[in-house]
Amino acid sequence: MPDRHVQVLVIGTGPTGLGAATRLEQLQLPQSYLVVGQEDVAGGLAGTDETSEGFLFDYGGHVIFSHYAYFDDTINKALPKEDDWYEHQRVSYIRSGSAWVPYPYQNNISQLPQSEQLVALDGLLEAAELRAATPTVKPVTFEQWIDRNLGKGIGEMFMHPYNFKVWGVRTSEMQCKWLGERVAAPNLKVVIKNAITRTPAGNWGPNATFRFPARGGTGGIWKAVAEMIPREKIQVGRVVSVDPVHKLAKMGNGETIAYDKLVSTMNVDHFVDIVQVSSEADKEKLRMVKQATQELVYSNTIVIGLGMRGQRPERIGDKCWLYFPEDNTPFYRATIFSNYSPHNCPAQDKVLPTLRLANGSAPASTEPSSGPYWSLMLEVCQSAQRPQNMDTILEETILGALATDLLRPGDEIVSTYVRRFEHGYPTPSLGRDAALGRILPVLKDDFDIWSRGRFGSWKYEAGNQDHSFMLGVEAVDSAVFGTPEMTLNETDWVNGRRNVERRLQ
Ligand SMILES: Cc1cc2nc3c(=O)[nH]c(=O)nc-3n(C[C@H](O)[C@H](O)[C@H](O)COP(=O)(O)OP(=O)(O)OC[C@H]3O[C@@H](n4cnc5c(N)ncnc54)[C@H](O)[C@@H]3O)c2cc1C
Repeated sequence: MPDRHVQVLVIGTGPTGLGAATRLEQLQLPQSYLVVGQEDVAGGLAGTDETSEGFLFDYGGHVIFSHYAYFDDTINKALPKEDDWYEHQRVSYIRSGSAWVPYPYQNNISQLPQSEQLVALDGLLEAAELRAATPTVKPVTFEQWIDRNLGKGIGEMFMHPYNFKVWGVRTSEMQCKWLGERVAAPNLKVVIKNAITRTPAGNWGPNATFRFPARGGTGGIWKAVAEMIPREKIQVGRVVSVDPVHKLAKMGNGETIAYDKLVSTMNVDHFVDIVQVSSEADKEKLRMVKQATQELVYSNTIVIGLGMRGQRPERIGDKCWLYFPEDNTPFYRATIFSNYSPHNCPAQDKVLPTLRLANGSAPASTEPSSGPYWSLMLEVCQSAQRPQNMDTILEETILGALATDLLRPGDEIVSTYVRRFEHGYPTPSLGRDAALGRILPVLKDDFDIWSRGRFGSWKYEAGNQDHSFMLGVEAVDSAVFGTPEMTLNETDWVNGRRNVERRLQ
């Protein structure tokens, strides 16, 4: 006899698991549900750590751009007060040589030195000619998409090197269907006009403004969302095996939970390893699914945080996040995390000793003294093609920050943070969609398992916090009512609109 029985069991307390929980709580099903998560704190990859000196660092640069009214309803209910949030204008640049080019690069080649503008324009014109000559050709790889839409100049100066630093694989190994709204295709006439008049382009894209929680970093949102779920519905513990035939999950402490439907938000490549079946037919199905998960590609993310004493420097100003395509830094992105909320740093009257100066020399004094403080959060991709050394990554990062003017040699570093996240980015590889087609339908149709989430369903374009949360909501609706899951299956459609069909109240 199992220790307990629930109608819906959810594995994981990241945004996807909390989306499922929020929907289940709203539906008030006659039978119960349970969410089990292996960490004490909810939030998963959308979490935040605090250093012993009091600096907050998210697990990488997290900015909310929501496509869903339901998601907004939830986070507004979780953090309802006006002073729970700060609203920011995106101020984002790309480091190019010793210049900062406004984001997105392809719309702002007017800001490059003239020789580079010519290379970029040459490529853009060639790309336009290519599109005119071959109107029916559809690019398959990301590399082909870049060559066709942005041209070889922008490709070589920015897109290829930058994307290799982010993804850890070459653009020729990535597909391009995932791009949708994410990469700005420039208007050639505007680009040429801007280049001649040396005018920067207007603010582009979906996250031109964004909100950030005042307290607790991004993780603060998810702690607050988890608090809206009754305590007894969230259990801390690790699921160690799932028997989908008898619909039984086993926890690390030996407890067994029977369920009718299972929503798993675990990384699907790990999840299939805990599934146990006994019939030969099921074993064969599972073997095929496991084989397909081995074709999925991902990279790891290393987050480096630096806390500095002093006023925020002029050169940093109100910048939010910055991109680094060149090889003088290990990081591809830097976030001025102290600009998002003053509570991301300790209060000015907190006294801290200087650990070191940015150039590595010992500080003049190790006596603790007061602030103000500011902080940088830097992200590094780790993959087979971009190996990183955890022993030296902090030092390499500081050197990169010095080389790109983020830090000055005499800056006083008072706090450092380094953490590696295994499974950071789900890579839109060439074989991804075919592999997912051999994994997700089998788990759902043959085993009644909804594997969903950033790495549960492995679609980067449906892998942000709002998407993940709604993948959980829609998985529940699918499991309970048979409703189609639009975020998973119609991602471009969902991403191209404001989705208002579901509301929390
Ligand atoms: C570097 C980086 C930058 C990002 N930037 C943004 C951004 O700017 N904007 C944005 O909206 N989103 C961003 N995201 C995405 C965001 O973090 C994800 O959308 C979200 O965290 C995914 O949620 P999830 O619940 O699907 O998965 P996860 O957060 O991975 O949660 C899965 C949970 O399952 C738990 N689990 C695993 N195995 C078990 C087990 N056996 N038993 C019990 N529990 C288990 C894990 O511990 C984890 O808590 C970023 C992510 C990264 C890594």
